[in-house]
Formats: sequence, structure tokens, C-alpha cells
Amino acid sequence: MTEIRIEGSEQSFTCAPSDSLLAGGLRAGLGMPYECTAGACGTCKFELLEGDVEVLWDDAPGLSARDRAKNRKLACQCRPLTDCRIKIRFDEACMPQVNPLKQTATLIATNEITHDIREFRFATDTAATFRPGQFATLQLPGVRGTRAYSMSNLPNGKGEWHFQVRRVKGGNASNTLFDQLHVGDQITLDGPFGMAFLREDSARDVVCIAGGSGLAPMVSIARAMASTGQLASRRLHFFYGARTQRDVCGEALLESLPGFGERIRFYPSVSSTQEQDAPRWSGRVGFIHEYVEEIMGADLHGHDYYMAGPPPMIQAVLDTLQTRHMVDKSQIYFDRFF
Ligand SMILES: Cc1cc2nc3c(=O)[nH]c(=O)nc-3n(C[C@H](O)[C@H](O)[C@H](O)COP(=O)(O)OP(=O)(O)OC[C@H]3O[C@@H](n4cnc5c(N)ncnc54)[C@H](O)[C@@H]3O)c2cc1C
Repeated sequence: MTEIRIEGSEQSFTCAPSDSLLAGGLRAGLGMPYECTAGACGTCKFELLEGDVEVLWDDAPGLSARDRAKNRKLACQCRPLTDCRIKIRFDEACMPQVNPLKQTATLIATNEITHDIREFRFATDTAATFRPGQFATLQLPGVRGTRAYSMSNLPNGKGEWHFQVRRVKGGNASNTLFDQLHVGDQITLDGPFGMAFLREDSARDVVCIAGGSGLAPMVSIARAMASTGQLASRRLHFFYGARTQRDVCGEALLESLPGFGERIRFYPSVSSTQEQDAPRWSGRVGFIHEYVEEIMGADLHGHDYYMAGPPPMIQAVLDTLQTRHMVDKSQIYFDRFF
């Protein structure tokens, strides 16, 4: 174990040699700043003042040339080789709800959701403890680095973690999951992570916005609202943005929930229609942020927003909610799927 001291503070934490600085700090219950855990967002930047680290991904896009020139590094992509002293600004909002735990997980089942999204169910020996909307990172055989995947199920004592993964063309982790992992195989699962979890203490109605592979955490939030009786006092508007008709999904997962059609409304939209779509798509065509604006109308301010999906979709919704309509940022929670 190495000791990581925080410049300008009395705080320090011990970090296992196999852990990133980010994971080590979160395991210690500290408010390490982060968003994606995948080297892309740049939120977990720090300065190394003393000590030595191994950089796991040299070309991580979360660092600019300027950052590199200033010797800044990403806490999610550095493992300590010695005791270190670092400069980093804690963020209380990132303090873990549940300290992440790294453990072995066994693939127990798979299930097709669409032509390119498959559910993967894993089981761990200990309870699956997380908040609905959070994600875990998976270390897969033969894949460099870890990948983040959001849970679609609810926390449970059986130790089950369900993920809904989209196959990405040429993608290392997604294709390994689809083509090389079989029921009974073991991987390493770390988590939970993430701040876009359901706030049960709010009285506002909820809008969930999922784009593409962003389905899983929104389904988990819908399931949590149904299972905790929240739907009695809060309604749920569930938007799903797909590329084409055959990419639309979500309704089958939601319609088994009590209140579907009344307390839960499902609004799918496709961004393009194609000749071969059969039967012809008679639903909405257009970007999901425009659909949200159209349906929520004058009531945009009265809701809590949860969203997950590609960064451009998240940005378009943020522009609509915050820039155009001044919805307070305390009502908006999101994960960008880098
Ligand atoms: C918070 C969060 C939650 C997500 N949830 C889901 C989900 O529920 N379902 C889903 O389908 N997808 C989800 N994703 C996307 C997922 O993590 C993967 O990016 C996606 O599956 C493509 O991975 P790939 O390995 O197949 O593709 P690749 O193109 O091989 O890799 C894609 C990403 O992996 C990271 N990466 C690449 N190389 C390295 C490396 N050497 N070391 C470390 N990281 C590297 C980068 O961030 C890159 O953008 C989520 C992403 C984030 C950030």
C-alpha cells in the first residue's frame, strides 16, 4: 500500500498498488472529483508534487497539451508506484454514497434487447450495493483499461449486476463482451461510481432522457421509482432517442412497471427514417432534446432531469434546459457515455 497525501490539507489515503488514485481515494470515502472514470472527461485532473506513478493510458483524451505541459495527470489513469503528494481539489458532490468495491463477477446470463444492445447479468459473492442510476467499471480479459457500464437493475442482496451494452463497431470491450465472454466466465467488477443517481427526497416529477446505449441507468431509475412507491406522488416522463426505428427500445422494459401509461409515459423519437423501416415508423422524428422541449412545454422548470447517452446528446439537452430555459443545474443529473 502507498500513502497519498493531499497538498494543503491534513487528509491522506492509502492506495493499493493495483488501484488508480481515483479508485483509491473513493474507496477511502473521499470526494475525489470525477465523472467518467474512463480517461475522457478530464474532471479528475491533479498535479503530482512528489512521488512516482504509472500512467495507464498515455493518450487519454481527458488531458490537453497544456495540461500535459503543466504536468497534470488523470487520477483515473494513474497507479501509485511510491508514496505521493498530490494537488487536487475535492468536490463534496463526488463523495461516494457507497464506497466502491473491486470484486470478481461471474457472467450468469445474457439477453438480447435490440439488434445491437444485449443485457449481461453478472453475479458477485457480496450484495450488489449501489444507487439507481450509478455505474460500475469492468475489467475484461484482453482489453486494456476498464470500461464503465451502468446498472439497469436495482440494488439487491443476491449480488446481481445487470448491464445493457451496445456493440460498438471496432470497440474492444463491447465486442469482447458480445463475442468472447460466456456464461460462467469471470471478470473484475469495480463500483459503484457516479453522481447521476435518483434523488428520492425531491417532490418534483422526473424526466428521464436516454440516448442509444444510455438506456440502462434510466431503466434502473424507473424501476426504483416503481419499487419505492415514488410513483404515487411523482410522475415519470421517459424519453428515448434512437437513430432509426430498429434502434428504439425501452418500452418493453417499462410496461411491466405499475402505472405504465398513466404515471409513466414513454416518448420515443428517431433521428432519421430509412426506406427499409418496416412497418413504417409513424412516431416522432427528430432530436430528443427538441422532443423534451415540445412535450414538457411551459412546465420545464418543475421537473428533475436524469439523462445518459452520447456527449453531443447530453450537451444538446443541457443547452435546451440551462441556456434556453434557465432550468437550475441542481435539477439536472447526467452521465456522458464517452
Ligand atoms: C459513465 C459511463 C457509463 C456508461 N454506461 C454504458 C452502458 O450502460 N452501456 C453501454 O453500452 N455503454 C456505456 N458506456 C460506454 C462504455 O464505457 C464504452 O465506452 C463503450 O462500450 C465502448 O467501449 P469499447 O471498448 O467497445 O470501445 P473502444 O473504442 O475500444 O473504447 C471506448 C472507450 O474506452 C476508453 N478507453 C479506450 N482505451 C482505453 C485504455 N487504454 N485505457 C482506459 N480506457 C480506455 C475510452 O474512454 C474510449 O472512449 C458508458 C460510459 C461511461 C463513461
